[in-house]
Amino acid sequence: MSNLHGIERAPEERVNWKTSFPFFLVHALVLLSFWTGVTKTAVVIFLVLFWGRMFFITGGYHRYFAHRSYKTNRAFQFILAFGGGMAAQKGALWWASHHRNHHRYSDTPLDLHSPQKGFWWSHVGWILCDKNNAWNEDDVRDFGKYPELRFLTKHDWIPPWTAGVASYLIGGWSGLVFGFLGSTVLLWHCTFFVNSLAHVLGRRRYATTDTSRNSAFIAFFTMGEGWHNNHHYYQASTRQGFYWWEFDVTYYILKTLSWVGIVRDIKEPPARVKSAARIRDGQFDMGMFKAHWAKAGAALSNVRANARTQATPAALAHDPELAGYRE
Ligand SMILES: [Zn+2]
Ligand SMILES: [Zn+2]
Repeated sequence: MSNLHGIERAPEERVNWKTSFPFFLVHALVLLSFWTGVTKTAVVIFLVLFWGRMFFITGGYHRYFAHRSYKTNRAFQFILAFGGGMAAQKGALWWASHHRNHHRYSDTPLDLHSPQKGFWWSHVGWILCDKNNAWNEDDVRDFGKYPELRFLTKHDWIPPWTAGVASYLIGGWSGLVFGFLGSTVLLWHCTFFVNSLAHVLGRRRYATTDTSRNSAFIAFFTMGEGWHNNHHYYQASTRQGFYWWEFDVTYYILKTLSWVGIVRDIKEPPARVKSAARIRDGQFDMGMFKAHWAKAGAALSNVRANARTQATPAALAHDPELAGYRE
């Protein structure tokens, strides 16, 4: 176990630098933009790939595959899986399986990416270690029965490479480096912010049992996913911005697609759900109480561990602060 700021890491929870190499390489390659230059075509590719793939992640991977918050036909289901796959965040079944786990165990020790284990861990640490490489079949039995989805999850390199090659053919080296790789890096971190920042930044409207928050800032970059406290409170809703001023571009696109019959059964939060369980001044907030409790517990066990390993019995006997931690 390594111990960083009181946070315990098992060996399989540490960054695997070898398998994570492509992730860091892509970041570094974006710097080649200084040599390739940034053409107008590359800027267009960047914007189309950033916002287009963001929709496939939020409207496809998240609201469809992970939460089944609306219905669609099999052809569009495939498009959602392929489009989400282009974002280089592994396959739809892998993504949905892990995300369902996050909601089941939000901010408990079983949560795959709880910020309780540190900001870095919730942002990318949980993806770059060996622990979460596999996905649980039992978590996604509903979609696991489609062979095309299993194929795309098994060969998850196909969609991003398709997008990369297309970017090169359309925009040359600048299209590939700035347009494709640049937008991929930004897309990664904006998506990861929902796991890290959206449990730290913003306000809590509902007393959920986790630390999720609502943030307009995150909602802007993630097409509406920043209303994360709303989402944790009522996951069944396709719409995550519960009020008109909570802009939710993913929802607007899905709503438009429902008018032309491509998607159906879009769910809205019922009025009684919207007004229930709101946190009022002075009201007890279970999620935050649990978070502070866990943090205090971790800090205390860290002090104990240090006292045990570093202090000699003689020092313990003379140090009134440490004496209390003797067993
Ligand atoms: Zn979710
Ligand atoms: Zn969350």
